Amino acid sequence: MRILDISPTLRPEIAVWPGDTGFSREVALSFEKGNNLVLSGITTTLHVGAHTDAPNHYHPKGQAMHERSLERYLGPCQVIAVDCAAGTRIQVADLGVEIQAPRVLFKTGSFPNPEHFNTDFCSLSPELVAHLAQAGVVLVGLDTPSVDLYADQALLSHNAIHRADMGILEGVVLDQVEPGIYTLIALPLKIEGGDASPVRAVLVDGAMS
Ligand SMILES: [Zn+2]
Repeated sequence: MRILDISPTLRPEIAVWPGDTGFSREVALSFEKGNNLVLSGITTTLHVGAHTDAPNHYHPKGQAMHERSLERYLGPCQVIAVDCAAGTRIQVADLGVEIQAPRVLFKTGSFPNPEHFNTDFCSLSPELVAHLAQAGVVLVGLDTPSVDLYADQALLSHNAIHRADMGILEGVVLDQVEPGIYTLIALPLKIEGGDASPVRAVLVDGAMS
């Protein structure tokens, strides 16, 4: 069994959506200060690094993070590499492979540095989301900050995902991951009312023992 870590490191340099709350960690107690232990806290947007969006992020009646059932975030997962032009949505025709697992992560390579926010990343088309839902997919994710294009205020794919009640995984790092079938583990924190949660996203390669 091999564990592939697909989460970027959370540190102040991590890029967040322009205008959102950046990640910072404040150390209250430390050995350097003469304390008997280290104690620290963080301030951050919930949409930091590898994270999942809760439905209440994109729909007024959507479930919050603590209400979400966890099945979506754990289980067989297919990584699919796609060729998409900068700033475009992935279409059904771009798939190139059969959907073979109920969780799908798209490797686009269009947001190459988690510490630099480029706005011309790729996203999903609502038609692709509907196609995946038809195929029984319960979670869709990608290696960019959003399932919609940077300038999309209508959130077309977020809404398509809401209609299908799918889970979302954004901000994963897939540059070292070969396309194929894995086991995904990306459980969200149980944050009451949360509109998202950072996750430690990993892909397990081979049988879990
Ligand atoms: Zn998000």
